[in-house]
Amino acid sequence: MKIDEMIAAVQAALGVTVDGRAGPETWGAIYARIVAPADAGAHQEGIDAVDARSEKNIATLQPQVRPLARALVQKAALGGIGIRIISGLRTYEEQEALYAQGRTAPGPIVTKARAGQSNHNFGIAFDVGVFEGNRYLGSSPKYKAVGALGIDLGLEWGGSWKSIVDEPHFQLRPAWADGMAEREMLAELRARLAAGAAVYA
Ligand SMILES: [Zn+2]
Repeated sequence: MKIDEMIAAVQAALGVTVDGRAGPETWGAIYARIVAPADAGAHQEGIDAVDARSEKNIATLQPQVRPLARALVQKAALGGIGIRIISGLRTYEEQEALYAQGRTAPGPIVTKARAGQSNHNFGIAFDVGVFEGNRYLGSSPKYKAVGALGIDLGLEWGGSWKSIVDEPHFQLRPAWADGMAEREMLAELRARLAAGAAVYA
């Protein structure tokens, strides 16, 4: 048995997404099944909380995305890069307000997406900021390094997009959207939100 086959078999037994790559979801499930029962006071997702600003935004994300966001902050810190999660869920109302900026409201244009046209509207996407101490860096080569860490965790990174490169952006694609165009995925996400259906089921 090859290692990826073994990981896939463990993932199937744990009931997590089967992709043969052991990311935080798999480690979280292993932790919850094997370690946590012996340690009742342990954090539910098995991954320690990060800084308060990041946690505030992480709390707005789908539960499946939260351990990945925390893991990204921790992995970056291990590599000497300070990042915080600076954006998570945006409601349709918040998205429309952002779209209005630079069009019918003051400020520069910051998005092409209207309500329901951004993955942020469904809690599957988050943006990171690179910090040096408390100083926010809007652009830095460090975003590329963080992008590689995110891809390694099984996230999609906005920096590898062809049309609009968005280096601070990460998202967790649902298994049902594998190979789907972004437009199709968004249509399904809108339908699920309208129906009150789960995003990752
Ligand atoms: Zn984003």
